[in-house]
Amino acid sequence: MSEQKPKTDLEKKARELLKERGVTLEDIGELVYYLQSPYHDHLSMDVCIENVDKVLSKREVQNAVLTGIQLDVLAEQNQLMSPLQETIATDEGLYGVDEIIALSIVNVYGSIGFTNYGFIDKQKPGILKQLNDKSTGECHTFLDDIVGAVAAAASSRLAHSEAKDEELD
Ligand code: MG
Repeated sequence: MSEQKPKTDLEKKARELLKERGVTLEDIGELVYYLQSPYHDHLSMDVCIENVDKVLSKREVQNAVLTGIQLDVLAEQNQLMSPLQETIATDEGLYGVDEIIALSIVNVYGSIGFTNYGFIDKQKPGILKQLNDKSTGECHTFLDDIVGAVAAAASSRLAHSEAKDEELD
């Protein structure tokens, strides 16, 4: 399947930023596959990616992507005020606002996204492991949670579409 054409400048920017920060639709699709393949006999990567694409077409998701990545980039450039600069640059464990921003994504397709998010955040498969590699000099304090949350929401959408629930978009 091909990626949807962005409908707004906000959507275009959110999709561009994810790519610039090293995250593709396929990367997130792999996380969806990781979460959902135990529950589906014939799950394809195409279906996983299609569900990621649908999640990324939601305005609240795009706003979370922009906000989180902007803060990561400013932290990399040492542009935030102290002590927030140090907190975000070092991905301090007790900060927690990164997870809160991610929650605005998790529930767009119902509360099973919440369970998926908690699970994948602990397991950190695929791209999430790379984003958590602190040796690169890059800051992904917000992005790792956002990517996990998009995958969780896409998994939730997939589960609901398999159940033939109506009104998904
Ligand atoms: Mg984080």
